[in-house]
Amino acid sequence: MKFLSRLFGAAREADLADRLAFHPSETCPECGTKLARQTEARNAADWRCPNLDCPARLRERLAHWCSADALNIAGADAALIAQLVKQGLACDVAELYSLKRSELAALPGRDKEFAQRLLDQLAASKSREGWRVLYGLGIPRVDAEIARQLCQRFAAVDDLLAAGPDRIVSQGGVSDTVARSIAFWYGDSVNRRLVRRLQKAGVNFKTP
Ligand SMILES: [Zn+2]
Repeated sequence: MKFLSRLFGAAREADLADRLAFHPSETCPECGTKLARQTEARNAADWRCPNLDCPARLRERLAHWCSADALNIAGADAALIAQLVKQGLACDVAELYSLKRSELAALPGRDKEFAQRLLDQLAASKSREGWRVLYGLGIPRVDAEIARQLCQRFAAVDDLLAAGPDRIVSQGGVSDTVARSIAFWYGDSVNRRLVRRLQKAGVNFKTP
């Protein structure tokens, strides 16, 4: 129940922007966790599974990273992502960069040509603009526009992530809520490790 301690840890942050409210009866069809939404959210669509280890959420994070607005990885569509998660080949976005040709070619309905095309796309995605990487991380409240703005004002995505809320506000020109959301995301050691692994894989964190 790793996600529970992470949720309760989050709740202790008195000024945390992302407080959660739990749905009285609806649960995630995939993992059975009670749906939650940020306390200020009001739309039915805002109820989502809060379990970070839920396969449905993992698929969402992978799809977001691969989407045209983020790292733009052609071929990494919903069907492929579902296959990767089902086979345990991608437990987070950094693992995409360790996929092997033989593993991909062995997936149902795939072949060596598909595997090579995908590996080429993954290799190309390592040199995309820094703002795409920042947006692709899926930090709450950091949409593509805010990611672009922040990357114009910081020399590198990792410099921004480590800056702390005050400097993110003053140097980045974003709201306190956005800045705290970034600082909170990077305060999680799982996320810091993810950033390091992406850097080690050769993903570009520099900004223009
Ligand atoms: Zn779930």
